[in-house]
Amino acid sequence: MRPSFAVTSTSPEETRIIGAALAPMLLPGDVISLAGDLGAGKTVLVQGVAAALGVDGRVTSPTFTIVHEYRGRYPILHLDVYRLNSFQEVLDLGFEELLDPEAILLVEWGEAVAPLLPRRYLEVVLRRTEDPQAEDHRRITFRPHGDDWVRKLDGMRTTAETLLDAASPGESTGPRFERVPADPRGDRGA
Ligand code: ADP
Ligand code: MG
Repeated sequence: MRPSFAVTSTSPEETRIIGAALAPMLLPGDVISLAGDLGAGKTVLVQGVAAALGVDGRVTSPTFTIVHEYRGRYPILHLDVYRLNSFQEVLDLGFEELLDPEAILLVEWGEAVAPLLPRRYLEVVLRRTEDPQAEDHRRITFRPHGDDWVRKLDGMRTTAETLLDAASPGESTGPRFERVPADPRGDRGA
């Protein structure tokens, strides 16, 4: 069973920091699937990743255009499959070509295309918390699929803890990431 980790982000800035911490771990060919309702913060997290990879343009949701391409340290493909109604539409879009070994692929609503994802990928799930006092809190869970992602996730956590700590001086409350039980759906043995 591979360790999954969760963290509570208290602001869009923190979510961007968490995305930025992921960036140094990423290499061309890596795939990240982002799940969570509208407004959960998927695009905000991608903004953090892209900025840290040196993308200087605006990173917005590709909801209508389906795919955005950015140039950073590596090519980045930012996909949002929310408006695609069926697997067939995703295939028609040329999803398999988007699994470009030269690019980093980030897919919003990736759970909808899970069977089309490679065996090795990082699954990120973002959720609002129930607490009405904590409107800006997001629970972000990271589930590695494949040993490679276990290692990358360890690196990301260490970096994120340091960056989050540095961004809130005087408020340090110790480690923010917690280990959480693996997804009961399993990880397809990858
Ligand atoms: P999604 O792509 O999941 O539909 P977006 O990233 O476009 O969602 O939007 C998230 C919205 O929630 C933004 O308006 C953002 O400012 C707000 N927000 C509030 N708190 C957070 C947080 N902790 N992390 C990310 N976004 C947050
Ligand atoms: Mg979005």
